[in-house]
Amino acid sequence: MMIPYVQGDCIFTRISPLTKQYEYLTDDIETDVIIVGGGVTGAILGYYFSKRNIKAVLIEKSRIAHGSTSITTSLLQYELDSNAMELKSYTSIAIILRSYELGIKALDEIEEFIAEYGNTCDFKRVDSLLYTAKDQEKKEIAQEYKFRKENGFPVEFINQETNPFSFEVKAGVLSKGGGAQFNPYKYTHALLEVSCKNGLRIYENTEAVDVRYSEKLVTVETVFGHKVKGKVVIVASGYNTHLFTKKAFGTKTTTFNVATRPINNLENIYKGVVVRDNEDPYHYFRTTSDNRIIIGGEDINFLPDILNEELCMKSYDRLEQRLKNLFPKLNIEIEYRYCGAFASTDDNVGFLGKDPKNEKLWYCLGYGANGILFAVLGGMMLSKLYLGEVDEDLKLFKVDRFGA
Ligand SMILES: Cc1cc2nc3c(=O)[nH]c(=O)nc-3n(C[C@H](O)[C@H](O)[C@H](O)COP(=O)(O)OP(=O)(O)OC[C@H]3O[C@@H](n4cnc5c(N)ncnc54)[C@H](O)[C@@H]3O)c2cc1C
Repeated sequence: MMIPYVQGDCIFTRISPLTKQYEYLTDDIETDVIIVGGGVTGAILGYYFSKRNIKAVLIEKSRIAHGSTSITTSLLQYELDSNAMELKSYTSIAIILRSYELGIKALDEIEEFIAEYGNTCDFKRVDSLLYTAKDQEKKEIAQEYKFRKENGFPVEFINQETNPFSFEVKAGVLSKGGGAQFNPYKYTHALLEVSCKNGLRIYENTEAVDVRYSEKLVTVETVFGHKVKGKVVIVASGYNTHLFTKKAFGTKTTTFNVATRPINNLENIYKGVVVRDNEDPYHYFRTTSDNRIIIGGEDINFLPDILNEELCMKSYDRLEQRLKNLFPKLNIEIEYRYCGAFASTDDNVGFLGKDPKNEKLWYCLGYGANGILFAVLGGMMLSKLYLGEVDEDLKLFKVDRFGA
């Protein structure tokens, strides 16, 4: 059964001009690394592998950046989905701290890419706010602040008296430069443009339908019968992993986003930050370069059949109402409504690395709310691994850390 992972009118593919279309595969070809999936994760891998002069081919079954990448809010924060004290029961404090540091490293990497190749994807490094408007959650936020402050992260504590924002904050952790935002469709294309120049071969409308392993090679058969032979295949197919493994990675939910029309006086009212509240499930919001606000959340158990319009409309309406409550002085009109699958893990990090039973099968799965940052780390660490250098941090993302 084809499960619809994305549904609705997605802002980023609508507001961005089509940059480039790639050919589909019309021949049998050979390479070293086969990347399956042409979303932001596949593009990040393509960039790091081609940067290190590793021969690679990327195949995408439909169009570049039209899967989850078209609906990701692209609100980038170094912190994880849950607060450190909540996460403690699933992992160790040392790992949580290292994950935060790696989040900052990934943000810096994206910024370096922009500095080198130009800002064609509306990238903006901003502060990041975690907050609550509830008295009973003040203590929890204060604990998270203390944890980060004591461990050297540049954070400020915000209370009702010091709150610089137009919406109610009872307690908040403001991370200086701890976040970023961009247009994920444009970022994906920017990465691929650079990667192409570095030798990456890219094929759109080229679905992988079968994969076989021999002693020396992996062969991926594509939908029109052509084959790609390589030494390693990397799964960058987002939430579609069934072709490669029966393993169920992460817990799926369906999550919702709405985006406003451009708002006239937005800059006077909205301070340039990316924001997440402390509710369960949480809400998150950011702005765009053309002065819109995108708000997401209202997660529910995964709906394999997300085509239930009535149910979706209820979630979109709740997000719209929340935005109007947060910013009563702004003229909020919703232009885009969309939703899709989202997968989270107990320790809030994705899966990067080799299949424990198959040396030729590698994964780069950016599960969790920091999916894009995990993909950047995956690009960095997996390209090094291919060249024989094992990054110590890879073990945080081990594919079998919750069992085989
Ligand atoms: C609503 C929402 C909001 C999110 N917000 C954030 C956020 O703010 N920050 C963040 O970091 N992350 C966020 N995420 C997570 C984020 O979406 C993912 O980390 C990221 O976008 C996934 O990109 P991807 O390339 O892995 O997957 P996709 O974009 O889904 O790409 C996978 C590609 O693989 C292709 N494919 C699948 N099977 C095959 C096959 N057999 N052969 C060839 N190609 C194949 C698909 O067509 C698809 O294009 C959010 C996710 C959702 C759903």
